[in-house]
Amino acid sequence: MIEAAAIDHPFPEPPVEGAAIEIAPGVLWMRLPLPMKLDHVNVYALDDGDGWTLVDTGFDTRRGRAIWRALLSGPLAGKPVARVLVTHHHPDHVGLAGWFKTDHGAQILTSRTAWLFARMLQLDEQSVPTPETLAFWRACGMAHDIYERRAAERPFNFADCVAPIPAGYTRLSQGDTLRAGGRVWDVHMGDGHAPDHVTLWSRSDALVIGGDQLLPSISPNIGVHATEPEADPVGAWLDACARLAPLARPDHLVLCGHKTPFVGLPQRMRQLADNHHGALARLYAHLVEPKSAGDCFLPLFRREIGEGEYGLALSEAMAHCLHLWHSGQASRDIGADGVWRFEAL
Ligand SMILES: [Zn+2]
Repeated sequence: MIEAAAIDHPFPEPPVEGAAIEIAPGVLWMRLPLPMKLDHVNVYALDDGDGWTLVDTGFDTRRGRAIWRALLSGPLAGKPVARVLVTHHHPDHVGLAGWFKTDHGAQILTSRTAWLFARMLQLDEQSVPTPETLAFWRACGMAHDIYERRAAERPFNFADCVAPIPAGYTRLSQGDTLRAGGRVWDVHMGDGHAPDHVTLWSRSDALVIGGDQLLPSISPNIGVHATEPEADPVGAWLDACARLAPLARPDHLVLCGHKTPFVGLPQRMRQLADNHHGALARLYAHLVEPKSAGDCFLPLFRREIGEGEYGLALSEAMAHCLHLWHSGQASRDIGADGVWRFEAL
């Protein structure tokens, strides 16, 4: 209970649609809607005097563009958007970056991995799942009825909610500094939720732009996908937590990608790592007999998983199984059915 009290939300009321809250001098907090259970993404605008640096964008939808137009002429006072900083390549963050570049002349700033991933996935539109995706779903042990249905359906495509991303961006790298919003920010790369996830740490005051690397109350999805079916994002996440934790101060106000900005980052950094240590320990005990990733939901999530969250849960279960395998705590064997089954060592 004492630990929970260490996380505080100084701005408990989020901005309403089309409005902004100034959470620090020259730093505006706004929200865009998302059509899913996690129904919003936070975006920020940093005042550069003659223009804005935006942080993340929301999905590319007609409604998202309309809300941005209202924000630009309302709280952003008609000043130009000079730059869009994308924290990571996921569609709720990068969705309108290309639109801001093409239609508003903004420069895109992000990590090289985030830019390449976003552009590659935006261009990779498929009407049915590819053979590699189908093989990966089988390897994860996807439930048969869900597999049969998804195999015949149009899969989720980045192009459905991410605007085309034109060539030309500015790379942010680990150790860079960036001037924005009247501050100098240190760039530190996160990992695990998305590779080379940009986080920004102000030198002038106690602000941190955390994206989805530093979230309060919800644990970011850490998943493996067909793009890199043997990846170890859980290992990458734990490494990133270890790298970023020493930077965290109790007075930091974290501008996060979802939920509301918070203080208590040192405590939260411990929780963000411990959540996965706990999940890995439960999974290890569960793998006393060989199991596929699809058979590991209960020990990992401690609740039933509905169909709407099945895909994310499966990719997250596979990530945790693979971490035990990569770290030498589990073996794995592929069956004639194409399913990888993991067993604790
Ligand atoms: Zn997000």
